[in-house]
Amino acid sequence: MKFAPLLLALFLPLSLFAQQAAPAAPVTPPVSPPVAPAIPSAPAAVPEVPTVPDDGVRVSVLGYHDFSETAPETEMIIRTSKFRKQMEAIRNAGLPVITMADFQAWKRGEKEIADKSIVITIDDGWKAVYTDAYPILKEFGFPFTLFLYKKYVDGGGKALTTEMVKEMQKNGATIGSHSVSHSYPGPHRRKGAEVYAKFLRMELGDSKSFLEEKFGGRVTTFAYPGGIHTAEMDPISKEFGYEHLFTVLPGKIRRSNNDQTLPRYIILGTRDRVFELATGFNEVAGASAGHNPEIAPQTTPFPVQPEPGALVDSRLPRLSADLSEVPDLDPKTLSMKVGGFGEVPAVYDEQSKSYSWQVNRRLRSPVCQVAVSWLDSKGKPPEVPLRWSFRIDAEAAYLPMAPESE
Ligand SMILES: [Zn+2]
Repeated sequence: MKFAPLLLALFLPLSLFAQQAAPAAPVTPPVSPPVAPAIPSAPAAVPEVPTVPDDGVRVSVLGYHDFSETAPETEMIIRTSKFRKQMEAIRNAGLPVITMADFQAWKRGEKEIADKSIVITIDDGWKAVYTDAYPILKEFGFPFTLFLYKKYVDGGGKALTTEMVKEMQKNGATIGSHSVSHSYPGPHRRKGAEVYAKFLRMELGDSKSFLEEKFGGRVTTFAYPGGIHTAEMDPISKEFGYEHLFTVLPGKIRRSNNDQTLPRYIILGTRDRVFELATGFNEVAGASAGHNPEIAPQTTPFPVQPEPGALVDSRLPRLSADLSEVPDLDPKTLSMKVGGFGEVPAVYDEQSKSYSWQVNRRLRSPVCQVAVSWLDSKGKPPEVPLRWSFRIDAEAAYLPMAPESE
């Protein structure tokens, strides 16, 4: 790693902090990166203010985008037949798919729902929602929410039309907002508080009035474009009457979750593990997204990447553990948890015996913690847990806000 002595000096206080904080659990990890003004606050930095006590219920919100039976699968385009199989899996598992209205009533503490429930959302407004997904959702009787952005409604080409949306509304569709222009906040935020507030008022306010006028009813839900949330959005979204706002951080929603940063599983066309995680409901309690794990002592009985305590120059590192020396590993029980993400869809490679995950949303905390757990064939956990942390070289990893995939 190459950096000037000056840069090293800059990061010395950070490394000292990490060393001091390490043995003292529970300690909240540092949350403001050294270049804080240029980077939106991490969702984990938002204090969770429970308004309604937990009732033990967990809701999994699934986020889809585009569908096709013939186009090459990508993260954002899922095979229509695979989508059908997923809907079948939900039905076969007996998981109720609830309306956004029921979700919102439950979240406010006004309604009881099943203790494991599913909400289906679809972002952007691609025409294939109408041609491919809608017939399946209708057949299964599953309600769904369309997060539409103003500029793409009747946008021609592959965009949904008003008529299509209106027909879907008659058969289970609820409308939520996905902004006016689908712009990411970075460039606007860097122009100062006034410009940024004006931008946010337009994106949150104008999209709401547009959708309400066109499709009727009240629009009280919002999906952040790119999943990017910053603290400046909260007073403005409240002012316009948004009640429930969704990120792209995977995790189950509990009643006590902050309504401004609700987790949601973006179901990727190319990684089936995300759907399995989203509908699994078997993760450890308290490991939901948005909560950084407490800083615990680092123990790495097996080789890991990035190395424990390393200073890495990327916000999108690949995390991996070499488990070739683990005796009697049952790969089906493997689980990786990452601070700020919760459980992530890491993949085990049978050949190399490595268990790895490519970070898919830029790390925004100066320290990233990872924990890998598993059981052996007799169901026994390892004697020494595998958990470590590394640091992000914020200066080297700085990038102007580039469009992030959702
Ligand atoms: Zn989007």
